[in-house]
Amino acid sequence: MDHVGESDSRKLLRRLRDTLASAEAGQARLDRITELIAESMGTEVCSIYLFRDRDTLELCATQGLERQAVHKTRLRIGEGLVGRVAKTGKPINTEDAPSAPGFRYMPETGEERYSSFLGVPIQRLGETLGVLVVQSREARRYSDDEVYALEVVAMVLAEMAELGAFVGDDAGLSAPHKHPVMIRGSVAQEGNAEGHVWLHEPRVVVTNPVADDPEAELARLNEALETLRVTVDQMLEAVDATDKEQREVLEAYRLFANSRSWRRRIEDDIRRGLSAEAAVEKEQSAARARLAQVPDPYLRERLHDLDDLSNRLLRILTGQGRETGAQMPADPILVARNIGPGELLDYGRSLRGIVLEQGSVGSHAAIVARALAIPLVIHAENITTEALNGDHILVDGDEGVVHLRPEEAVVQAFRDKMAMAAEAQKRYAGLRDQPAVTRDGVRLRLDMNAGLMADLPSLKSSGAEGVGLFRTELQFLVRAKMPRRSELVQIYRRVLDAADGRRVVFRTLDIGSDKVLPYMRQVEEPNPALGWRAIRVGLDKPGVMRMQVQALIRAAWGRPLSVMFPFVAQMDEFVAARDIVLREIERERALGHPLPEKLEIGAMLETPSLAFAPRHFFEMADFISIGGNDLKQFFFAADRENELVRRRYDTLNISFLSLVEMIVKRCEETGTPLSFCGEDAGRPVEAACFAAMGIRTLSMRPASIGPVKHLLRQVDLRELRAAIDAARANGEQSVRRAVMEVLARARG
Ligand code: PEP
Ligand code: MG
Repeated sequence: MDHVGESDSRKLLRRLRDTLASAEAGQARLDRITELIAESMGTEVCSIYLFRDRDTLELCATQGLERQAVHKTRLRIGEGLVGRVAKTGKPINTEDAPSAPGFRYMPETGEERYSSFLGVPIQRLGETLGVLVVQSREARRYSDDEVYALEVVAMVLAEMAELGAFVGDDAGLSAPHKHPVMIRGSVAQEGNAEGHVWLHEPRVVVTNPVADDPEAELARLNEALETLRVTVDQMLEAVDATDKEQREVLEAYRLFANSRSWRRRIEDDIRRGLSAEAAVEKEQSAARARLAQVPDPYLRERLHDLDDLSNRLLRILTGQGRETGAQMPADPILVARNIGPGELLDYGRSLRGIVLEQGSVGSHAAIVARALAIPLVIHAENITTEALNGDHILVDGDEGVVHLRPEEAVVQAFRDKMAMAAEAQKRYAGLRDQPAVTRDGVRLRLDMNAGLMADLPSLKSSGAEGVGLFRTELQFLVRAKMPRRSELVQIYRRVLDAADGRRVVFRTLDIGSDKVLPYMRQVEEPNPALGWRAIRVGLDKPGVMRMQVQALIRAAWGRPLSVMFPFVAQMDEFVAARDIVLREIERERALGHPLPEKLEIGAMLETPSLAFAPRHFFEMADFISIGGNDLKQFFFAADRENELVRRRYDTLNISFLSLVEMIVKRCEETGTPLSFCGEDAGRPVEAACFAAMGIRTLSMRPASIGPVKHLLRQVDLRELRAAIDAARANGEQSVRRAVMEVLARARG
């Protein structure tokens, strides 16, 4: 096969398509396909290897190699030349296979007789399904044209596999999207959910990979590209001229939509016999494979743009919009590559669970999911390619594991676990109106953390005594532009109304680091977590902070008001922020507006430095709340967003508990009320230890109040403290083991 012309290629694709229409079983069809390819390409061998599981490729059909090796020869990903093609997603073309690096001799196949080897990945949308190989006796390198022709054939095979064309009773051949898959991701919001997949962006299905009339396909492509260009232009006209970032993305879209090389590649694919949509998808697959290997974040973003654009083009060509007519299941589990907080809020509480391919624990979507108490698993690799709308799915938010199309035994075990959790919830609900009093008579106050209107009903249902942390930035994050003061007044008033006299601590805008407002100019920072964030932004650009404080005073309108500043690192910052509040109070007074009946101004202790601040700071602060999430990340120098390190240091590490103890002591000396409002306050064992160190107010997710109260009511804090002190005296690094022993005894 010195040359595979366009007409040969089209002929071959048509013959492949005919096998699809035939009534043959999956294996017979595969056998026939290898025959056709070998014949058309003039090679002695053609073999198809498909993934049997995530790591193993299996020889599923061959023309030319020993038949008895079919379904017997297996390779790990990366192993041998075939395994390397699968691993890298790139073709291997060599005239002397046995001496090529990585060659693995498989005696059962008889392939030592063949010198030249060409293997290309069988890929669909960046997912490698297998490897297509041709081999010849004659030692020669295949021409670029031949490599290209084989890639086009591989594309058609990928589409056929997607359509279930190779499914049969034979070992190793199972329909895609039918077998159970377990995906291990990371925990972003605990809880368990069972339901059915609802794809945020349903995948496009190409039912006609091969086309008879290239001219007609080229015309379709042309028309679709024109529609795409018009859409992008309209989108560009619609965005605000000042919205630089969105404009940039759309300009990039426009650039791609007009890109000659992109278009030329798609046209070449069509001339080889692919339908317009299969050709677009082939280029998209290639771009996704490149994406996986590009380390440069800027380039990756651009490739993402191209991917998005290809999706749009595919939807135009196939007529499959986002509105596919599919009904959202009654128990939807949202599956997406990523999702913005606004979009998530649109779905609201209708979702049972969320699974994302990307995302991060501190992402806005995660914050919203947490506020809505919807189990969320992130970093679930390949979930959007594996899942289909309506698939049965289990989300184990406690372990960060997702079971797609689970087997019966897994479903049963999962349901048992959910039933146990529901049983526990019932027990907790029974405690709702009971006080959090320990066995030795210490009374604790349990507040809840909030930030969205959707949180407010939890004030009643959870048994929280108040809102210990209202994260005001969530209202800013879910909007497309800066909210006006009047809007904020409305929001805060509704919060105070819902609280019905219970204390609400409003934390002023905590932005920066991972919380980026889409409408605020972003500053490039080498290390945003240590950068321009929270009170630092508030003091440098006091306009927004003043506006927010005014809104809070007006919302209170004569009722008590508690304001807290985030991320205070030294006394001066607190003094300056407090001055702003006091000045605004004076302004409101001058305007004749009613002032808060009582005003408390507090600080979050989130940096170790503040624990060592001058005594005057502790005297001045009306209250202090430990923001354990940030405090811990700076204390242990371990980024809370970084999966590699964020769980490395135990909260019950004696050094951290000693820091908490010191803060308790300093607050006691000045009579400053102290609380703890990081995520750890909602973990029962950690909460009990904080109580043992002297903390008397804990603020947590509403769902944690029951479990925390349940445990606190069983413990004797003196006993717990004695165990902590003994472990410290023993030189132990973490007191967890000692504490767990005491708790096991207390629980009987
Ligand atoms: C904290 O840091 O502990 C905290 C409560 O604030 P956030 O999680 O919003 O940074
Ligand atoms: Mg914080």
